[in-house]
Amino acid sequence: MKDDFTLWFNTTVHYGAGKVSELGSLLRSINASKILIVTDRGIVASGIVKKCTDAIMSEHIRFSLFDGVEPNPTTDSVEKGLTLVKHESIDAIVAVGGGSSMDAAKAINVLFTNGGQIVDYHGFNHVGKKGLPLIAVPTTAGSGSEMTSFMLISDSKTHQKIACSDPKIIPDVAILDPTLTLSLPQAVTIEAGLDALGSSIEAYVSKAANAYSDVLALRSSEMIADNIIKVYEEPFNLDGRSQMLIGANMMGLAVHLSYIGAAHSMANPLTKYFGIRHGIAVGMVLPYVMLFNTPSQPKKYKQIALALGVKLEKGEDDVTASRKGAIKFRSLLDQLSLPNNLSKMGVKEDLIPTMAQ
Ligand SMILES: [Zn+2]
Repeated sequence: MKDDFTLWFNTTVHYGAGKVSELGSLLRSINASKILIVTDRGIVASGIVKKCTDAIMSEHIRFSLFDGVEPNPTTDSVEKGLTLVKHESIDAIVAVGGGSSMDAAKAINVLFTNGGQIVDYHGFNHVGKKGLPLIAVPTTAGSGSEMTSFMLISDSKTHQKIACSDPKIIPDVAILDPTLTLSLPQAVTIEAGLDALGSSIEAYVSKAANAYSDVLALRSSEMIADNIIKVYEEPFNLDGRSQMLIGANMMGLAVHLSYIGAAHSMANPLTKYFGIRHGIAVGMVLPYVMLFNTPSQPKKYKQIALALGVKLEKGEDDVTASRKGAIKFRSLLDQLSLPNNLSKMGVKEDLIPTMAQ
């Protein structure tokens, strides 16, 4: 655990079933008159964006819609969204969707306010000025991006992921409405859920973890592990969806305070070279990362095993308990009908040195 740390609690969180209906009054309260909605076409087709625009129009607030965000958003799509903001007198941005929409909205906001290109902001704390008010409406229980200072944008030319972090990009408000996640396709539920669970575990064992992130990371691991199979089997289970959404939100704050780890580092090239979806890639490598990392923090990995629902024998030592946690995580992949090794996902061994690089 780190000896010193700085905490930012920037996001006001509004949680509740049907909470999205308050989006309009919320925008009114910050004197927004014309907003940009950043989302993707799937979210528009699902009817979720209409719930947002109904709430916005009920307060007579005007909006422009940018629905061109793709999974793993690119610099090209960010530029397209930026063009929309530049030509309209936008005074607030609303991101509706999963991590991709929220990250794209953060990127548009940064470029609109500070100019330049995304690559200029690669790394930590390169954002000069805070942007327009940003409201995040997550529609998946996954990235936790509504709470974080991170954004991940892929370079359209090189396909390299550009990771940027700055407290100035943290959304101002998050609206957590679990009813928005009821209609998520099963594949998205699994991908987002594994990403959330993997991120919680990584935040808990991060070298940058602190007393605050530990509480959030461990509890969110438990909440997500308790409910991921439930929502996979019963997508309309509102209680399960609520626990997942709150868990993912707590995870976002934990990650924001403590960062993530090697499973995420390994997931990025798997997405780049083999098109494996981010959350699936994180989930597939995580049990192995857990085993590899156990010697560094066996006590913490034992807590993870308990959070994952492992029943321990009396007096069981930390390393054995930790190992059971990794095995339990791998059994989750079976329960979610996912392949449990990379070769089954088409990953070629000869590319490993390149990916490691
Ligand atoms: Zn992730």
